[in-house]
Amino acid sequence: MKERILRQVGLVLVITLGALAGWMARGWFEAANAVPADAPWTREASPKVAGPMTATTVDVSELLARKPPPIAPVELAVPAEVLAPIATVTPTMMPSENVSEVVAPVVDPGAPRPIIIPVAGVDRSAVRDMFDDGRGDRRHEAIDIMASRGTPVLAADDGVVKKLFTSVGGGLTIYEFDPDERFCYYYAHLDRYADGLREGQRLRRGEIIGYVGSTGNASKDAPHLHFALIRLDADKRWWKGTYVNPYPLLAGPQAR
Ligand SMILES: [Zn+2]
Repeated sequence: MKERILRQVGLVLVITLGALAGWMARGWFEAANAVPADAPWTREASPKVAGPMTATTVDVSELLARKPPPIAPVELAVPAEVLAPIATVTPTMMPSENVSEVVAPVVDPGAPRPIIIPVAGVDRSAVRDMFDDGRGDRRHEAIDIMASRGTPVLAADDGVVKKLFTSVGGGLTIYEFDPDERFCYYYAHLDRYADGLREGQRLRRGEIIGYVGSTGNASKDAPHLHFALIRLDADKRWWKGTYVNPYPLLAGPQAR
């Protein structure tokens, strides 16, 4: 029994001494191969190295002895079920008394604003693209939305009544500027205006501004709203601008 213990102690001793000898031998080897800091070739021979090359020996045993830092369990300060509804609510979805106060992010300052079909009860599938149709010697540059006389005409977008105007061709018309004054919405052939409508009046999208008719050069048998989208010039005059086809906006998924 005693002999066995002695043998085991001896074995441990041999292993320890062996490890020690190995460590010492490695130390000697490293010391023998260490490059002196003032070696003449350390800089010239390595032009890519900016600083002086000094030989460094790394004590591996020390690195091995280091324990990895303990990984602290990660916990969310706020439970996910609390965060989730907050993340889905955006300012544009917040209810607001005044629709014009809702600020939608403008992706492209030149892009038209989303609009609704400006005639009550008309589905977007009933709207035809007739922007490029000929009207005499010029293009139509508008969309005609057919509806029976007296059907409410709705503001296509938030904005301001810029001009109430009667012309030979358009008959009873409304020029509405959007809140940014980038676009003008033109409504023509109206039978009559909404009661009390006046220039300078602020409008909300969907608000009744008039009624479908056939004033101007429209056929008496085919009352409709002639609707145009005009990109305003820099001087923001209601009678000047570039006609833009509103069909993609009216027929798109955003139209109602
Ligand atoms: Zn027309």
